[in-house]
Amino acid sequence: MTRVHNFSAGPAALPEPVLRQAAEEMLDWQGSGMSVMEMSHRGPQFMAIMADAQARLRRLMNMPDTHELLFMQGGALGENAIVPMNLLGRHRSIDFIDTGEWSKKSIQEAARYAQVHVAASSADSGYTRVPPRETWQLDPGAAYVHICSNETIGGVEYGFTPDVGAVPLVADMSSSILSQPVDVSKYGLIYGGAQKNIGPAGLTLVIVRRDLLDRALPCTPTAFNYRVVADNGSMYNTPPTYAIYIAGLVFKWIEDQGGLAAMAARNAEKAALLYDALDRSVLERGGLFVTRVARDCRSRMNVTFHLRDEALTAPFLAGAEARGLVQLKGHRVVGGVRASLYNAMPLAGVQALVAWMAEFEAQCQAGS
Ligand SMILES: *Cc1c(COP(=O)(O)O)cnc(C)c1O
Repeated sequence: MTRVHNFSAGPAALPEPVLRQAAEEMLDWQGSGMSVMEMSHRGPQFMAIMADAQARLRRLMNMPDTHELLFMQGGALGENAIVPMNLLGRHRSIDFIDTGEWSKKSIQEAARYAQVHVAASSADSGYTRVPPRETWQLDPGAAYVHICSNETIGGVEYGFTPDVGAVPLVADMSSSILSQPVDVSKYGLIYGGAQKNIGPAGLTLVIVRRDLLDRALPCTPTAFNYRVVADNGSMYNTPPTYAIYIAGLVFKWIEDQGGLAAMAARNAEKAALLYDALDRSVLERGGLFVTRVARDCRSRMNVTFHLRDEALTAPFLAGAEARGLVQLKGHRVVGGVRASLYNAMPLAGVQALVAWMAEFEAQCQAGS
């Protein structure tokens, strides 16, 4: 068996020890004689798996008691509708910060339920940065302010938690959750799909301040009403049991690695290695590889870059694949290359990628 270095943006690589434990427990979870997939979600075994996963995540994120943790379904795109339905209340409009493809999707979906106000946008820069906080035109009467903490497609990340005053801050953290410590108390709501940095697709995390639980519009589907989900311990309807089990194993793996501070240090090291290679390419070797993202907004999770000559992208990716470095193709909207460096990507994977970049540059120089 050979495992590749998987740079997928999502669904993404999982830690190998997690996959091994899941394989071992596939037919018989801890003497139950059943696979987790075959258990009643209301039986004692799965209830223990659920409680353990929730307790570990609360601990990892140092989640205050003011906030409720919900395990839901529907993905981040589902939440783009579920959040406005639940948080609009008596308000009419929502403030958005537009930093790329995923914020655009959030804005379009919310416009079905509310007035949307784009308080700042980096569209004019080609979505290569986060608009500086002092340029945001916030409306103090807005239901909430929505940001996308990390734009998975463009590779643009907030290097700060914005202060938006008394209006709740809502963040789509799909692709950066658990990559570093977060001060949950600064957020009204955090949401994200699990398939980037946590576990398998199918599980959606929502962390919501308790005082925001009772604002849902009457049209909100019952299964997506935060109050209902909270009061039923995320079991109003059948939760994605297997995805929750795997996520629990990932939470345990992160704890064993030293928690979110350790993840942050490791992620910073991996990202620095790759961005240094990109910067050196420009400074020392005529810029075969370039990243367009503003330096202080560079994503640690999704590193996007281009080859100076777009025609070199295909041979670069083919050579990468031959070396076991896979799923590096950039999203079709931006093209080029995207290396996703989530928690499960080891430093060795980034080292192998940087070595292949240097080898490819040498080949191009020799051939030109
Ligand atoms: C992947 C992603 C989404 C879409 O998530 P789904 O689970 O497919 O709905 C939304 N926002 C961000 C930031 C993402 O990375």
